[in-house]
Amino acid sequence: MRSFLKLSLFMTDYIELPHNKKLNLLRDHDGDWPNLDHEKWCLHCGKKFNGHSVRVWKDDQGSLWLECGTPECDGSPIDWADYPWWDESHPLTKKHLKENPNLADDDGEGDNEKLL
Ligand SMILES: [Zn+2]
Repeated sequence: MRSFLKLSLFMTDYIELPHNKKLNLLRDHDGDWPNLDHEKWCLHCGKKFNGHSVRVWKDDQGSLWLECGTPECDGSPIDWADYPWWDESHPLTKKHLKENPNLADDDGEGDNEKLL
């Protein structure tokens, strides 16, 4: 008799959550999600997805995790952004930079100019 147990070790346990619970989970992990129609961009795959398409999976400790809505992409909330900041020529990125000019030439701490 052959065992099929080995296969299941590598299968992610995706689950379906009711909309309100999914939204709460998104907010817990990723801050402001007004609703499941809200769209975000994923650095991992570079694409846009919405809350409905986000996948939820459960680990063996019973914790719930979120995964990018793009098929085959395993991007997680740390990869998600409101606009594709990695693409400077994207209209949304341009718009964001225009509204927040102080972000234009500074990617954060600004301490990498000159080190003594
Ligand atoms: Zn992705």
